[in-house]
Amino acid sequence: MIVRTLVVGPALTNCYLVADEHTRQAAVIDPSWSADVILAEVRSANLTIELILITHGHFDHIGAAAEVHEATGAPIVVHAREVDLLQADGGAARFGFKIRSVPPPDRLVQHGEVIALGALSFEVREVPGHTVGHVAYIEHQERAAFVGDVLFAGGIGRTNLPGGSYETLIASITEQLLTLPDEFVVYSGHGPPTTIGAERATNPFL
Ligand SMILES: [Zn+2]
Ligand SMILES: [Zn+2]
Repeated sequence: MIVRTLVVGPALTNCYLVADEHTRQAAVIDPSWSADVILAEVRSANLTIELILITHGHFDHIGAAAEVHEATGAPIVVHAREVDLLQADGGAARFGFKIRSVPPPDRLVQHGEVIALGALSFEVREVPGHTVGHVAYIEHQERAAFVGDVLFAGGIGRTNLPGGSYETLIASITEQLLTLPDEFVVYSGHGPPTTIGAERATNPFL
């Protein structure tokens, strides 16, 4: 599995390009910002984008979704309970930003679905608490979890935005993420990657 991380936009959001290294079939996980940067990386890595996977609808995670969708034709995948936030431009106006509105999603997912990409497959897990329809994408063979703004190296997602709930977030982390084996690599929406084991052992919020 190829994982390329682009740090883009005003909130320094991680946009991940994740690909089957043999077929070069790829997903953009959170087309956060700066479509030109994302698409240049796609070209230079010789990838074909087949999926646009959205962890949650905050503006800093979807700022380039419209352009990446137009350029690649790849379907936009999101949880049904996140569509309202998506259509509200992810709350961009609240933070003084403007983004291109995301077109209607092509595929709505729910807990337990598996999304195929070449030899890779991503299990969808509902992890609400930061937003109501937040999901994590888990690649079990590759021991990787793409968790958006739920869990960070040494931190957890904020819960003081609309739809946030501290108790719900902690339950999501405990039941859906910390149940993964220690060696799973956690790719967060902001900051460096970590592991389930490291967060279990040292995260002060858990
Ligand atoms: Zn967020
Ligand atoms: Zn974020």
